[in-house]
Amino acid sequence: MVTLKAARALLDEKGLRSSATRIHVLAYLLSYPSHPTADEIYQALLPKMLTLSKTTIYNTLDLLTEANITRQITIDGKEARFDIIIVDHGHFQCNTCKHIYDFSVDLDECMVADLTGFKVAQRNIYFKGICPNCQK
Ligand SMILES: [Zn+2]
Ligand SMILES: [Zn+2]
Repeated sequence: MVTLKAARALLDEKGLRSSATRIHVLAYLLSYPSHPTADEIYQALLPKMLTLSKTTIYNTLDLLTEANITRQITIDGKEARFDIIIVDHGHFQCNTCKHIYDFSVDLDECMVADLTGFKVAQRNIYFKGICPNCQK
C-alpha cells in the first residue's frame, strides 16, 4: 500500500522510529484527511491490529502532534480531532451534517491586535454554520 510507505517515509524524515502502530495511524490520517477523532482511528484500525489499545492510539497521536506531523483541532468542544494538514488553515463545521471543511486563510492578515512579545504556539480559526449541501 502506497500510504504505508508514505507514512514510514514521513516518520523517517522526522527521525521517529516506525512502529506498526505509528505507521498505521499515520497511514490512516493520510488516507482520510477528514479530521478523525482518536476513537474513529481506533475503531478503523482495530480489525487490522487486534492487540491495539486506545492508550496506544492516544500516545501515538500525541507523539505525531509533538513532531508536528499532525495538528489537533477542537472545533466541536468535545473531542480532539486530528489533522494531517499542518499549514495554517481555517475550519468550518456544518451544524447539520457535522462535516468539517478546510478553507485557506491568511492568518497574518487576520491579526487585529498587536501581539508583539507574545510567543504564539497555535493559531486556529473556527467557523460554524450550514454547508451548501445541507441548504438544499
Ligand atoms: Zn452539512
Ligand atoms: Zn483541517
